[in-house]
Amino acid sequence: MSHGPLDDDAIESYREAGAVLVEAMNEAREMVEPGRSHLEVVDWTEDFIREGGAGLAFPVNVSVDAEASHATPGRDDHTTFGNRMVCLDVGVHVDGYIADAAVTVDHSGHPELVEAAEMALEAAVDEAGPGVEVGVVGKAIEDVIRGYGYTPVLNLSGHGVERYDAHTEPSVPNRGVDRSVELEPGQAVAIEPFATDGRGKVGEGTTEEIYELERERSVRDRRARQVLEEIAAFDDLPFAARWLSNDRAGMALRRLKQANVIKGYPVLKESDETLVSQAEHTLLVTDDGVEVTTDGIHGFDG
Ligand code: MN
Ligand code: MN
Repeated sequence: MSHGPLDDDAIESYREAGAVLVEAMNEAREMVEPGRSHLEVVDWTEDFIREGGAGLAFPVNVSVDAEASHATPGRDDHTTFGNRMVCLDVGVHVDGYIADAAVTVDHSGHPELVEAAEMALEAAVDEAGPGVEVGVVGKAIEDVIRGYGYTPVLNLSGHGVERYDAHTEPSVPNRGVDRSVELEPGQAVAIEPFATDGRGKVGEGTTEEIYELERERSVRDRRARQVLEEIAAFDDLPFAARWLSNDRAGMALRRLKQANVIKGYPVLKESDETLVSQAEHTLLVTDDGVEVTTDGIHGFDG
């Protein structure tokens, strides 16, 4: 895939999405405290983003302890934060241009695990630039995390983002890879190291609250049709079951999944059930370097 230089409107939208995300994240992370519910933090964050005139590129993810990704509360989930490790992963779009970033809030007493992911991200951002192979960026991530005595999550990767598409090429591995593709000017890329003290492999759990439209096609079931009409408003981006107005949408979602109209994103958990930390930024690859659009959420920023 070739990329021309981004036009000014696209760059401005990427920056705006990043700015809204940073503001939302820096409030949200302060709200992650034992006793407060996941849903309260998620609702606040998603409302803040919408009220800021931006859109959600995907539901706010709240991943706890061994969970790495794709966890978001259902509408009746009253789970509260405890003394745990919590990854907050937020996606914002402006006119379809996406910012995707994550921080880890630790109440579990493992600050070095959080630091390992953050320092790996810093090293990766330092390494990234036009003509740099993604495998070299991955090596920087792996070296830092292993230097802390932890393991990167090897089967999760960073990724490109494009307009109204939260996951595109290139894939950015969290380990060193020989002979990989080069980053190109005009790309927007999310880099996201995960660190764990387990084996570094995630598998699918049983919970599933995030879905995405796969292909539009007619369905017979009346409730499934109503739900499908609502899904059209999500711009082909991932959505949460709790965003649907019909509080009995569960059956309709199952029908739509069976018909391959939507796909689900089951929660991903570390296979050894060990803690996972995450740090993520979105950056634009420019002619002579990178511009981090989500600057200001990690300790090493600016
Ligand atoms: Mn993310
Ligand atoms: Mn991402």
